[in-house]
Amino acid sequence: MKKIIVFLFFMNICVCTAQAKIFYYDGCKNVKKIALTFDDGPNKVTKKILDILKRKSVRATFFLVGARVKANPDMAKAIAFAGHEVANHTYQHINFYSYNGKDKTAKIEEELLQSENAIKEITNIKTFLVRFPYGYSKSDALEVARKYGYYVINWSFGCDWKKMTAEEMYDKYRKSVKNGAIFLMHDLNENTKVLLFLSYFIDELKKSNYEIVTISELLNLKHI
Ligand SMILES: [Zn+2]
Repeated sequence: MKKIIVFLFFMNICVCTAQAKIFYYDGCKNVKKIALTFDDGPNKVTKKILDILKRKSVRATFFLVGARVKANPDMAKAIAFAGHEVANHTYQHINFYSYNGKDKTAKIEEELLQSENAIKEITNIKTFLVRFPYGYSKSDALEVARKYGYYVINWSFGCDWKKMTAEEMYDKYRKSVKNGAIFLMHDLNENTKVLLFLSYFIDELKKSNYEIVTISELLNLKHI
């Protein structure tokens, strides 16, 4: 019996440190760590999110849209300067689930690289984490990611902010806290609901002894 327990223990460690896969939607279940991720920025509202994160001494991961990085370079720099993880959310935020242009794989590639270049030009950071819009993670996207040394990161919990109040969202986020959770949130001018509960949510995570880390820290990922 003892042998079986020891074996299972090591199995768990192996699973959590394995880096062979490139697609993730949560982290290791053995440690009390979670990651906050913000999609779709930089925007005007980014400054308010950064202020809350700074006040709470928390680092998050921002999946940036290349075209918005070009439009809001100072905000992109502010995210990087504050020590948050900067990641790629493609250039134009195309929904590849419904895309029916000619060469889809070439378009995915173009969207990834154009955004990478914009982010590199403005922040001097070479991204290696990508979240495709709407969590697109079909094999064509995974292959493009693999080709360019990217990890594809989705989420363990996110909610449809258009249909919910801030109170309802807060309640759902709280109930979805677990070891290794990756929370999807939005950095969007149209969605300021997150600002109403983010600091309370962080307080609660800290009170429950969760360590809030970036995606590469949660998943133990480095440039391939
Ligand atoms: Zn998005």
